[in-house]
Amino acid sequence: MKIIFFGPPGSGKGTQAKMLCQKLNIAHLSTGDILREKLNDNDELSLQLKKIMSSGNLVSDNILNQIISSKLISDSCMKGFVLDGYPRTLTQSEFLLSFSKTKNISFDFIFGFEIHFNIVKERIVLRSEKEQRSDDSIDVIETRLSKYLDETLPVSDFFADKFSQNYFKIDASQKVSEIENNIMKIIENGKN
Ligand code: AMP
Repeated sequence: MKIIFFGPPGSGKGTQAKMLCQKLNIAHLSTGDILREKLNDNDELSLQLKKIMSSGNLVSDNILNQIISSKLISDSCMKGFVLDGYPRTLTQSEFLLSFSKTKNISFDFIFGFEIHFNIVKERIVLRSEKEQRSDDSIDVIETRLSKYLDETLPVSDFFADKFSQNYFKIDASQKVSEIENNIMKIIENGKN
């Protein structure tokens, strides 16, 4: 099962991706998690990444495309995956679509998490207290949300149009368990 999650920061897609991957026994490809792990390397790249990520800006498309292309052909993704946080720009989406075509990878389900930004801001402030993420402060979240609107929402809309049979909107203001049930029902029922 090959799945893509789109949604603004704080929409709960990471939580849902984690649960779904456990349930389906597939790989969770969270580019945010992968990049945060790289921050521990303490090399030149990690210093650059730290600066970009803590300001709420996006890391370069080249870095992301390299990370994802090597993951997608790795053994860990053989049974399937959830892409969580990628593609986030039109350049990334073009890369993903051409890469997946050459590797014969097709996407079974694409979920677009939708939520009012006021709810997102409240959630992120709470998360910052729990997880101590440097990019979860209220001023940085404004940058992350505007990046989402400018760069990622057009990609999500493009996928909704191109893959209308496999694209499903999710009301992400619901409870975690309700969202989980929605997603499972859609997967059990199949395409639109
Ligand atoms: P996330 O945990 O998905 O909110 O990602 C945390 C941060 O990692 C983002 O604010 C970006 O700086 C960076 N990041 C994650 N995924 C991507 C991506 N696909 N393209 C560019 N930057 C990314």
